[in-house]
Formats: sequence, C-alpha cells, structure tokens
Amino acid sequence: IIQVNNLRKSFGTNEVLKGIDLTITKSEVVVIMGPSGSGKSTLLRCLNFLEEPTEGVIRIGEFQVVTGGKANSKRKKEIRELRKRTGFVFQSFNLFPHKTAIENVMEGPIIIHGTKVEEARILAKALLTKVGLGDRCDYYPAQLSGGQQQRVAIARSLALNPMVMLYDEPTSALDPELVKEVLQVIKDLAREGMTMIIVTHEMSFAKDVADRVIFMDKGVIVEQGTSEEIFLKPKEERTRQFLSIVK
Ligand code: ATP
Ligand code: MG
Repeated sequence: IIQVNNLRKSFGTNEVLKGIDLTITKSEVVVIMGPSGSGKSTLLRCLNFLEEPTEGVIRIGEFQVVTGGKANSKRKKEIRELRKRTGFVFQSFNLFPHKTAIENVMEGPIIIHGTKVEEARILAKALLTKVGLGDRCDYYPAQLSGGQQQRVAIARSLALNPMVMLYDEPTSALDPELVKEVLQVIKDLAREGMTMIIVTHEMSFAKDVADRVIFMDKGVIVEQGTSEEIFLKPKEERTRQFLSIVK
C-alpha cells in the first residue's frame, strides 16, 4: 500500500535521510524507533510531503509522486491526492483553538471532500464516540485534557478516511496517566486493520501493537523485524546500545 524507494532528504549540506527503502502492506502496523536526530520525523514528514524530499519515489495506494519534479500544477495535484490519503498526528495536538471538538473533526470532510455540513456532523459525532469522546463534542480544546485533545486529533485525521495513519510521537507531550487512553485508541485502530506508521519510544506499546519494528539511526534503516527480533535479539550493535538506554 506504501512504497518508498531511495528516499533522500538534505537540509543544506546535512543529509538527514540517506536512501530509505520501505514497503508497507495493507493493515500493517510499523513502529519506528531510533535516537534523537536520526531522521524519524523527517521520514514521516516526507511521506506526507510536509517536507519536500530531495530524491526518491513515494507511492501510496495508486498515487505516486516522483520527487525533485517541477512544481507544476500536475505535480501539485499529485501531492494533494497523496496528502488526502495520509492522516498525520503530531506530538502537539494542533487543533484549532477557536473551534469545538466536533467542529475540528468536521472541518476536513467539509473543506477537502466537500461533504455537507449535516453529514459531516454525523460522521464527526461517530468518530468522537469511537475515540471515547462522544460526550465532549462541544468542548473547546482548552477545556480538554492533553489525552482528550490528542484523541480529537486522531478523530480529525480519521474523518478524511485515510489509507494510512502517520503518528509522530503521539504521546510524548502527555502526562503518563493520559498516555494509556491515546495508545488504546491506536490499538483499537490496529485491531480494525488500519495501516499505521508510528514513531514512538513506548516500548511496551510497540511490543503490543507492532507487526514490524524499524530501528533508524543517522538517516538509514539499521535493522527491522518483529518486535521480538528487535527487542529480544537485535543483530546490530547500534540497536543494542539504543535499547539499553531506553529500557
Ligand atoms: P527526535 O527523536 O528528536 O524527534 P528525529 O529522529 O525525529 O529526532 P528529525 O527531526 O527527523 O529527527 O531530525 C533529523 C535531523 O534533521 C536533525 O539533525 C535536524 O537538525 C535536521 N532537521 C530537521 N528538520 C530540519 C529543518 N526544517 N531544517 C534544517 N534541519 C532540519
Ligand atoms: Mg522527531
């Protein structure tokens, strides 16, 4: 469902992604781990073209974007299509502060898919209920806990019916007692067969939910495998070192 070939990204002379190859199948849950600065966020951002890759090919579903292309209208349209198919959940929740929870969730379908307001409201209500916030529809972000805000953000991404969900450290800004409720929502989605790529340092969560764990360092994929393979018998010294620190 997702294919990435030779993805490279430089900021000036700093090459942050050094040729990433990645294939992700439908319903697969992939957890990406690695030290700070290894390029995890940059990789996710490139997949969604929040960051323009320097080189490489990205295909999501039937949509393919070759990077380094001219910024013409055809290419802009390709990028728009690709974005529509990926939901992105950030570390900070990025909700519109002046909109209620339900308005935050309704916005995407109305603006991007042209859904009618009443239809969008029904969908948004269902999604907020799904993430356990059916009774908080009319609250503003400031009236919600961090965990609740993050669940609204997940509902908002789901509202666009993405083919894949990308999460960049979705729980790292949360107090420990709020982490669980967000991870539970992600686990439920995994069980329903949602394709997801999750950058996280939560090892026990990764063990629980990941079909595959990828360990990145310095812009390359050092190794990948099942969570057992990576956590219990990592092959690479760099992986071992990293795990001994986060454990
Ligand atoms: P962390 O675990 O701390 O979130 P990360 O693995 O997500 O780290 P990235 O945020 O992808 O790492 O950053 C990788 C490298 O790219 C870093 O050296 C960073 O300084 C650099 N970088 C990221 N974004 C930019 C940018 N917009 N401009 C210049 N350099 C950047
Ligand atoms: Mg990051």
